[in-house]
Amino acid sequence: RGASLTDFADKVGVDAAQLVQMLFHLGEMVTATESVNEAVLDLLGEELNYVVQVVSPEDEDRELLSSFDLEFGEDEGDDSDLSVRPPVVTVMGHVDHGKTRLLDALRSANVGDKEAGGITQHIGAYQVTTDVDGTDRRITFIDTPGHEAFTSMRARGAQATDIAILVVAADDGVMPQTVEALNHAKAAGVPIVVAVNKIDKESADPTKVRGQLSEYGLVPEEYGGDAMFVDVSAKSELNLDKLLEAVVLTADASLDLRANSEQDAQGLVIEAHLDRGRGPVATVLVQRGTLRVGDSIVAGPAYGRVRAMLDEHGENITEADPSRPAMVLGLTATPGAGQTFLVVDDDRMARQIAEKREARERAAMQAKRRVRRTLEDFMASMEKGASQDLNLILKGDVSGSVEALEDALAGLDVGDEVSLRIIDRGVGAITETNVDLAAASDAIIIGFNVRPQGKASEMADKEGVEIRYYSVIYQAIEEIEAALKGLLKPVY
Ligand code: GDP
Repeated sequence: RGASLTDFADKVGVDAAQLVQMLFHLGEMVTATESVNEAVLDLLGEELNYVVQVVSPEDEDRELLSSFDLEFGEDEGDDSDLSVRPPVVTVMGHVDHGKTRLLDALRSANVGDKEAGGITQHIGAYQVTTDVDGTDRRITFIDTPGHEAFTSMRARGAQATDIAILVVAADDGVMPQTVEALNHAKAAGVPIVVAVNKIDKESADPTKVRGQLSEYGLVPEEYGGDAMFVDVSAKSELNLDKLLEAVVLTADASLDLRANSEQDAQGLVIEAHLDRGRGPVATVLVQRGTLRVGDSIVAGPAYGRVRAMLDEHGENITEADPSRPAMVLGLTATPGAGQTFLVVDDDRMARQIAEKREARERAAMQAKRRVRRTLEDFMASMEKGASQDLNLILKGDVSGSVEALEDALAGLDVGDEVSLRIIDRGVGAITETNVDLAAASDAIIIGFNVRPQGKASEMADKEGVEIRYYSVIYQAIEEIEAALKGLLKPVY
């Protein structure tokens, strides 16, 4: 997706300007750096006698790894090779509802259980242990700021989170970002545990929170639903053990979290930075296998040999098993958050893979304009019998228009082949969070009488998220219906 003429010219070894000319004569007006669709590439291929195949970066990376006999997310073997791994948890919720304080409280309460004096470090993730029915159970928390761990990783096709804790302040109730967080988790199919926070406050109304969230389809167990709600106070450290227990119970009830700890380690980079004394430092989350000091690894476009590993207490560890976060020293460069890492045979192999990735990243940067999904793409993939889900985010100037749009869309008869999902809706300008969710869910944003605010537009360009603007409802409906039926004419 999103190859430019320059990319193509590089691949086949011709001059991009010649291609522009050639296309001009074939009736297509494109510039060299503009990204062109597959039909145009096919056309060029025919002229030049090439078979054109557009490969996604993910496919390209898969191919690269397989040329070294490697695979990310390889088969973990039989049931007997798998053992239970701890759930990986992200804390989400509205600003000021207590996410940071809760993460700190959970971390320090747990250190308190162990030796006193253990200084915890923020390495982007940590593990705690809790007793559930007489058994010690571990839970991994990701505590990078914002939605980083959740959103951008998922946008890259890697999922770090097994369970989301949705923090709602009991004195404030459900707020816009609560709903956004809820939608993020739902879109990712991640089970939610609700932490009703600040119940130490006099104005706290935990019952109201339950009622509000029920309206969004998150119904507490005590009301006959399947979501666990726990009243907590991060400030007074109240019911933190109950919250941990709810996480474990939710994992046991709805997820089968197991991994093979015997194989070479693979996982995700949670965060990375350049440390003045230690060089590149990356916190990784091991998802399968066991990572050991001395392993040769490649992490995104960085590589190296694990010189040392530290846990969240700053203590040296020699190995890290599945769901264990560890700070890794010894990489040649800092990988990006959300990139994958894997252990390879030796340093040479690690370097070769890393160099190829780096070259590719550089090329991609140059091509810059990434096209994720447009309505036209959607049709093209439908024609090929591929993706049949069209995800939409609706934003409108008043709630009446959003509702009218939604009702009209719900009433569309699109047959059984395709499904239209409205993953979020709201009143007001199109925000960065909307774009974020759209990028993570491959969704299109429909703006009805509203425009992007702040950096949302810039971000949509960068992320390749399509925003379509309308001021007449039937026109919006018509175009979406046409897209779903594969009839939309491209607009120039
Ligand atoms: P975040 O934006 O969601 O990370 O929220 P913070 O963790 O920064 O908390 C926002 C404010 O609420 C801070 O002043 C916290 O001290 C306060 N706070 C967090 N949890 C509680 C709680 O359980 N009770 C009370 N009374 N205040 C809390």
